Amino acid sequence: MLTNDQLSQWDRENFLHPSTAFGQHARGESANRIVKTGSGVFIEDRDGNRFLDAFAGLYCVNVGYGRTEIAEAISRQAHELSYYHAYVGHGTEASITLAKMVADRAPAHMNKVYFGLGGSDANETNVKLVWYIQNVLGRPEKRKIISRWRGYHGSGLITGSLTGLTPFHNKFGLPLSEVVHTEAPYYFRRPRKDMSEAEFTAHCAAELEALIEREGADTIGAFIGEPILGTGGIVPPPAGYWDAIQAILKKHDILLIADEVVTGFGRLGTMMGSTHYGITPDIITIAKGLTSAYAPLSGSIVSDDLFKVLEEGTDKFGPFGHGWTYSAHPIGAAAGVANLKLVDDLGLVQNARDTGAYFQQALKTALGSHRFVGDVRGEGLMAAIELQRDPATGADFDAADKVTAQVVGEMAKRHVIARAMPQGEIIGFAPPLCITPAEIDQVVDATVDALNAVTGAL
Ligand code: PLP
Repeated sequence: MLTNDQLSQWDRENFLHPSTAFGQHARGESANRIVKTGSGVFIEDRDGNRFLDAFAGLYCVNVGYGRTEIAEAISRQAHELSYYHAYVGHGTEASITLAKMVADRAPAHMNKVYFGLGGSDANETNVKLVWYIQNVLGRPEKRKIISRWRGYHGSGLITGSLTGLTPFHNKFGLPLSEVVHTEAPYYFRRPRKDMSEAEFTAHCAAELEALIEREGADTIGAFIGEPILGTGGIVPPPAGYWDAIQAILKKHDILLIADEVVTGFGRLGTMMGSTHYGITPDIITIAKGLTSAYAPLSGSIVSDDLFKVLEEGTDKFGPFGHGWTYSAHPIGAAAGVANLKLVDDLGLVQNARDTGAYFQQALKTALGSHRFVGDVRGEGLMAAIELQRDPATGADFDAADKVTAQVVGEMAKRHVIARAMPQGEIIGFAPPLCITPAEIDQVVDATVDALNAVTGAL
């Protein structure tokens, strides 16, 4: 067996990691972690350290680690048929069954799914679906996509442009010109502290109207948004937000893409986040919770109305000229079927609702009035704590002090993993949906201890 030292050396010498400071990693100035195994909400590294993973990997291992039902389904599929493509009408029992299971869990007006591999490529597909559909409808100039600042939709060329976080734009020459951004529904960072939630919702709606006016509704094809902002800071929308936004989109004939890569399949305590917030999308993006990340798979769920346009387009112009070699990969599909069955059998949507409510309350009780906590927020099993130097005046910490990174580091010393969100002093939580109240207590205790350890001297 390879030694840890050997692996660590190769890691520094050969491995370019995503979202990593390459130089520091190569020089050994930043920590690395070699993960070995996992079970339930826990992972274990090669040094034998066990961590409670309160971010479920990248909010994706929804059923928890080490589920033999999924591992066996993958193994059976690999033995029977490891690969066949899905082009020109090919399918497998797994991919066809999964399409049916997805349609059964989607809103009633959505019954068709196009499978990809990850969230980014699914959103890339969605943009192409919008462009194709607007072309078939005879309005090719309806091409721009509106996204929100702080939205996260992937890190490809168009999807990295849709993402409204500057670290994903800087030095790449993004966003591309087809993407325009509007106000983030981020009540904690509202323009004036005396604004009520209803006033802030009206402000977001007015900003969207003004953007559409400036750009011209006849140039805008679609709007994309996560039901609750995820990577942008885990921010639930203000009351009435989705109703107000949908009314504007309808008025201007703009399609709505609900990016449910994180919220799909239970995280908010409802099967889909769209249902949770009364959203009626034209397209839904799914990934992570579709397979609980046991194998890569994503999808674009399309409404019945949009399908009619796709039908008309392909009847007139021939096959839809878009596909990936690995679309509907049989191993991903087998993982998806076993995973969605497990979500049902274990009652995980209900657990996300019940244990999620317990989590939200426990965080508020433990940290709501901490002197360096500006906001505690969340929904279901997604939560965040936003740190500030002085919540009373709204003064923020200096980013250079890396307070959140330090707190998350201290939490890891206490064997709990949370995520320092990429923009702002925000600690994010999104544990596996099978987490228990006792494990939640462990997460909350570690957070309080770590925060006190870092801020004690301030
Ligand atoms: N959309 C949302 C809402 C996400 O959170 C993510 C990833 O975190 C993506 C899209 C991109 O997914 P992937 O990293 O699988 O490409």
